[in-house]
Parts: sequence; structure tokens; C-alpha cells
Amino acid sequence: MSFARLGLSAPILDAVAEQGYDTPTPIQLAAIPAIIEGRDMMAAAQTGTGKTAGFTLPLLERLSKGKPAGNNQVRALVLTPTRELAAQVAESVELYGKNLKLTSFVVYGGVKVNPQMMRLRRGVDILVATPGRLLDLFNQRAVKFDQLEVLVLDEADRMLDMGFIHDIKKILKVLPAKRQNLMFSATFSDDIRNLAKGLINDPVEVSVAPANTTAATVEQRLHPVDKAKKPALLSHLILQNDWKQVLVFTRTKHGANRLVKQLEADKINAAAIHGNKSQSARMKALAGFKDGQVRVLVATDIVARGLDIDQLPQVVNFDLPNIAEDYVHRIGRTGRAGASGHAISFVTTEEAKELADIERLINATIAREVVPGFEPSNQVKETDLNIKAKKPKKAKKPREFSSTDGAAKVAQPRRSNANSPAKKPAIGQKPAGEQAANKPAKRRVWRNKPKPVAN
Ligand code: AMP
Repeated sequence: MSFARLGLSAPILDAVAEQGYDTPTPIQLAAIPAIIEGRDMMAAAQTGTGKTAGFTLPLLERLSKGKPAGNNQVRALVLTPTRELAAQVAESVELYGKNLKLTSFVVYGGVKVNPQMMRLRRGVDILVATPGRLLDLFNQRAVKFDQLEVLVLDEADRMLDMGFIHDIKKILKVLPAKRQNLMFSATFSDDIRNLAKGLINDPVEVSVAPANTTAATVEQRLHPVDKAKKPALLSHLILQNDWKQVLVFTRTKHGANRLVKQLEADKINAAAIHGNKSQSARMKALAGFKDGQVRVLVATDIVARGLDIDQLPQVVNFDLPNIAEDYVHRIGRTGRAGASGHAISFVTTEEAKELADIERLINATIAREVVPGFEPSNQVKETDLNIKAKKPKKAKKPREFSSTDGAAKVAQPRRSNANSPAKKPAIGQKPAGEQAANKPAKRRVWRNKPKPVAN
């Protein structure tokens, strides 16, 4: 199936061809014809699936047929949770709409409001906005919605997570009742369905990848390590493997700043991107990372969500996220659009609960690998392992146990029943069989023994 058969006109098809896309992604196949037809839509699609083009292309197609926006008017409104995502969506609108006469603009907080008000006076066909700034502009009468035809909520789940529900409700109240509504979300939680109830009419529902499935092209690995040794381990891996572009996640803004300092002390060029940074600093860090001047970008979850960086080869979870779903979003930054990528997580024994949540969510056990020189000192008590250190039977070697040059494999789906008790080694521990064999620590990948299959 080609883009030409989805109902898009020549100027849009030319722009798409210029991007080098020849086959629509599954979300694009499902969304483009339905949106052109004017249907409401609820789509479960994560970043990396081509969802932005999935709603932008048909939006451009529809708007290209109507009357241009009058003064202060907006014909399509795209709401996004973060400034970065807003900027990226606006970039896509410009790119795919370059052969059309439509106008577009992006507004978000953290920058001066006056230039935004000035530009909005002439009206825009497509406005991309974060909710807070949009409300400010509306309250100052800089933007009007009488001509509004389409509303898009992008990453709706994240907007709710970030507490934008009240802003969104206020915005919905001032929009004309007759409009097309498109909602994109990584997951369809109850909250999302509740929001959709009052908003979306008879929607086409699309789900392109089962929620919370980690991309098959991402090789995942865990490095058990002591907390204090995490920065040194990161520098060691970057230098040893000669990683050129690494996105690193920390749990806190302060932690991100501190890590940048530590990396720079190791002569590794790094920048932080998080909510306490000014918008210009965030944009500068991202641009530097994209063009190769910044080798390591250290980010917190909220800001990193939705970042589109082509073919990012390496993601490191310096801290595990508190919310298991964020693990999926984080590693979704690599291995995108079919490219292979690596996601490494540093795990301390204190993070055992977060790890258990993540493995339950992705329904897989991630390969563990202790890096020589960084063996965790804080060994977990045997009772915590839920495994008796008895001598292994001969045949009971660890299921997968291979020496490696650093390449791990994709996490394996669990074959077990979720109700059966977990019998797996804790972080920092080798499988029972290996402990008994008392082999010297070598660089190895090992996997946990699968739990028995319950009938
Ligand atoms: P998104 O999920 O919207 O963040 O898009 C992820 C990436 O896929 C972006 O870098 C797009 O440029 C790229 N992309 C979108 N559609 C296609 C397509 N049909 N073929 C190849 N790449 C695409």
C-alpha cells in the first residue's frame, strides 16, 4: 500500500516523498483515510509509530479544502503536553505542508507572550499549543475558536499525568460543539476513556501496538551496580564502547545536573534537559545533541517524552523510573522506525521494586550483566532471593548463559503464568546454579530461569 492510495493530494504526497517515506506505517494506514473522511478517532499509538504524520497529513488534506483562518482564528488546534513535543509537531506540520498555502504556528510557555499574540492576530490554520499558554492567550483574547474544525489531543495520557485535565476542560468549554476530535495516547486507561466520553463521538478506534509492549528492535540489558558507582559506570561504558550519542534518564532534575557535571569532569560532553531549564537552554541542548556536538543528553521523563531524534542508538536509564510505563516510553527513544537500538538500565538493590514493576508490565525478564569492576557490594540476602542455594542439578544450567562482547538480546517474554510466585535471582545476584559453581566474575549475560508454565 502506498501513500497515494490513502486519499492524499499531490502537494502532500510530494512532501512525504521528499522525506523518503515510501510505505505508510500501520497507524497511518488506519488513521489517514478515516480522518480525511471526517471521523473522530481514538488511537493508541506510541511515539515512534509515525503517529504525528498519521494525524498531520489528513489534517492538512482536510484544511487545504476550506477557507483560510480569519483574524485571530484557528481552524485546527493540536494540544501537546510539552514544549518540545509542541515544537516537533509544528515542525512536522511545516514539513508536510510545505507545498500548501496553509499557515501554522506553535505556542508554549517559558517564552515571551507578546510575539505570540502579534502573530495570532493574522489567524493561523493550524495552531500547536501546550494547554497553559493557550489558555493565557485565549484569556487575553489573542485567539478565537469560531472557525475551529478539528481538535487533536496528542499524548493525552501524558497530559493527564501532568495535571492538565483542568486546563483541557476549560479549553473544551470554549470550542465550538461541532468539530472533529482526534485523541492519541500511548495507553487507553480509565482516565483516558473518561475524558474521551465527553469529547469524542462515535470514534474509529485504532491500536497499533499493544500498550506497554517494548519495541522488538530494542536490546535491553540491566547492569546491577551500587548507587555511588553509577556515574563512573556510565563514563566507563561511554568511553569503552565509544558511544557517540547517548540519551540518559535520571529521576530528578537535580540528579540530571549533577550527572552532567560528573560526565564533564570525565571530559565527556554532556547537557541536561529538564523542566527547570529555560526554553532556550532546552532547545540549545536538544539541537546540540541532534547535530552531534553534545554526546550525552541527560533528561528527566517529562521533558524527554516525545523527543524525536532519528535513529538514536543508545538509551541509558541511570535511575529506573518510578512509573513502570515510563520505562517503555524511555526505551522507545531508541530502535525507532525499524532501526535497532540498545537500552541499558543501571539498577541498585534499592530499585528492586521498580524493576519488578517494569518486568511485570513488559511481561519479560531483562538480561542482567554485571560489569567487571562495578560489581555491587550490597549483596542481597539469600532469603530475599526466594531461592535455596542448593547444588544445581547437572542439567539445570542457567537457561541462557553466553560470554558476550557487550551485545545483549531482546528481553524474552515470560512463559509463566502471572500468578505463579516469582523465583528469580535478585539484582546483583547470579542464578543459583552459577553461585554454586563459584566461577570467577566474568563479563557475561545471563537470564533468569523461566517460571514453570502453569496449566
Ligand atoms: P512519530 O511516531 O510521529 O514520532 O514518528 C517517528 C518517526 O518516524 C519520525 O522520525 C518520522 O519522521 C518517521 N516516519 C513517520 N512516518 C514514516 C513512514 N511512513 N516511513 C518511514 N518513517 C516514517
